[in-house]
Amino acid sequence: MRAAVFPGSFDPLTNGHIDIVERALTIFDRIVVAVVTQSSKKSLFSVPERLEMISHHFRGSGGKVEVQSFSGLLVEYVRQVGASAIIRGLRAISDYDYEAQMALMNRTLSGGIETFFLMAREENAYISSSVVRQIALLGGDVSKLVPPFVETALRRKFAEGRPIG
Ligand code: ADP
Repeated sequence: MRAAVFPGSFDPLTNGHIDIVERALTIFDRIVVAVVTQSSKKSLFSVPERLEMISHHFRGSGGKVEVQSFSGLLVEYVRQVGASAIIRGLRAISDYDYEAQMALMNRTLSGGIETFFLMAREENAYISSSVVRQIALLGGDVSKLVPPFVETALRRKFAEGRPIG
């Protein structure tokens, strides 16, 4: 049983994240999608809202996708949930510096936990949660970027008049 953790902000969940989870499931038996709670980024959706969105999307996975929040050291968390690997997505070369630093640091800290990178699909390479938030704020169409229930949640959030983070 090989398990991996896919950590991130998921603010909100996008088609890019979903594709990474689906492709990671062709390699790993179980993926734990882990919403980072102590991010320095100001968030639009609360952690419970983000957990709910991700759980809703993967509700039919038959337990292969778990959704949790976590804080603290990622490598400790990976061990705690019985996983041996970290999954990250790579979109552009601009993702590389930060990701390489994190992957090397996590391997040094853990002495064995590997980070696996999946290249974003071409059609998703330009999707980021921040671009989605920006388009939704400005009233643009995000239907090709996120699942329908995320689109609805975005519309509701901006109807509430909440400022963007
Ligand atoms: P973080 O703040 O940790 O980068 P994100 O929610 O922005 O959290 O991203 C979580 C992971 O998903 C990261 O590895 C990121 O590279 C990946 N990711 C985000 N958007 C896409 C996309 N469109 N295609 C593939 N991977 C993506």
